[in-house]
Amino acid sequence: MALDSPKKILQDVRKVLQLHAALGLESYVKSEGICNFLERLDTAAPDQPKHEALSVKRTVSVAEKPEKKVAKLAPQQTLADIRKNLGDCTRCGLHEGRTRILFGSGPATASVLIVGEWPNRIEDAEGLLFSGEDGGLLKKMLQAIQVDINDVYLTTIVKCRASEENPPQKEHIAACRPFLLSQIDVVAPRVILTMGPLAAQSLLSTNKLLVHLRGRLHRLKTIPLIPTFHPSYLLKNPEMKKAAWIDLQLAQRELNR
Ligand code: SF4
Repeated sequence: MALDSPKKILQDVRKVLQLHAALGLESYVKSEGICNFLERLDTAAPDQPKHEALSVKRTVSVAEKPEKKVAKLAPQQTLADIRKNLGDCTRCGLHEGRTRILFGSGPATASVLIVGEWPNRIEDAEGLLFSGEDGGLLKKMLQAIQVDINDVYLTTIVKCRASEENPPQKEHIAACRPFLLSQIDVVAPRVILTMGPLAAQSLLSTNKLLVHLRGRLHRLKTIPLIPTFHPSYLLKNPEMKKAAWIDLQLAQRELNR
């Protein structure tokens, strides 16, 4: 097979850089924390030193992390109250395909609240959100920004199983939304990370594509909200991890304020 000419290679590189610029990627950072998260990409460039900073961006270490400045007010209701109100919910058609309701998990005092899209088949069977490979990558994403998984509350925009072939429709999302908003009120996180397009669109009440929503800070009431990719998408599209890293750094910056 004939090798591409240097001119063709340069044209391809230019196209990739233009795509990254359109996604809001202004630099390519390599640090100790992100190497683990980006490992699939590292294998594509084995000669590069692992911890080389291609563009130096300072991050605040755990030791420097300031104390939470704002004390949370005692919530009017608890997560247990919301779960009780949800009951054995049949408010939308998704209840027909579920094994169980996956309400959410994590401490009510969590600093970070992650909103995924829907429980998938495996999560529905195992009774655990972000399980399997998705969960493994999520842990690496959090480690990369020095967030302890025990300081994270995990939930989804709908609490019953759906799939990429049959994603939740507007009426399903609307039926479940009050419970999600109540969870957010109770946890009152310092940062919300939405993972996947539907999660961002649902909480931001927009139809904009994720590519136009991610890479910047939004707010839900006063809470910083940062849209990014779902781990399952990143597993299939590892070249997008660098864009996700930009989003994660935004979250880290908010946590370190
Ligand atoms: Fe109820 Fe939400 Fe499940 Fe619909 S997705 S049945 S609203 S718990």
